[in-house]
Amino acid sequence: MDAFSGSGTPSALDAALARAWVAAIAAAVTTRAAELTDLDAAIGDGDHGVNLRRGFDAAVAALAGFEADTAGAVLTKTGTTLVSKVGGASGPLYGSLFRALGKALADDPAALGAGLQAGLDAVVRLGKASPGDKTMVDALTPAVDAYVAAAPSGLAAAAAAAATAAADGAAATTPLQARKGRASYLGERSVGHQDPGATSTALIFAALADVT
Ligand code: ADP
Ligand code: MG
Repeated sequence: MDAFSGSGTPSALDAALARAWVAAIAAAVTTRAAELTDLDAAIGDGDHGVNLRRGFDAAVAALAGFEADTAGAVLTKTGTTLVSKVGGASGPLYGSLFRALGKALADDPAALGAGLQAGLDAVVRLGKASPGDKTMVDALTPAVDAYVAAAPSGLAAAAAAAATAAADGAAATTPLQARKGRASYLGERSVGHQDPGATSTALIFAALADVT
């Protein structure tokens, strides 16, 4: 859908849409906090829901007092807030993702696919996880690939494709044995549980699909 269609379908992620995305993530992690915490209680330390609520609530609060007219600035601020407010592994990882995404959008506001790829690269640089290690990378990688492949169809279609791919990627972590993060300490006992971080990544892309 192009900018002149008049249908109300957004063609790019502007500052208002980026704010709406972050608010939708905060709402989703609040609604699903117990589920994320239960998943993390099974193969980690049970704080993933709490960590993400604290981080995204803080991001919404920080953005309320932040004058920014680009998606890049909004998402960079979100990432910086996550890094400073979330103690768990997911804070620095998601913080790096949003900071890299924001920086990439500041350089080229139209290239959300390239920005998401930069976010994934930042997560991998920091956490050193590969697909199959039972982490957020297992949802993030297929989501970014699906977004890039569907990008010619427009923002909403690409976001919907990414959300589906992220959900499928999260579900596919269940039979895996964790090789990174706290869950890896469990060895074979990590098998049979969906990874909490891959699950929250699916929420993040579902929120993007909801607002676009
Ligand atoms: P912590 O493990 O410190 O308690 P959280 O519970 O908030 O932090 O986040 C756990 C999630 O972080 C895991 O489910 C996994 O998806 C993700 N994670 C942990 N370590 C890594 C890593 N090295 N690379 C990518 N993701 C990771
Ligand atoms: Mg945890």
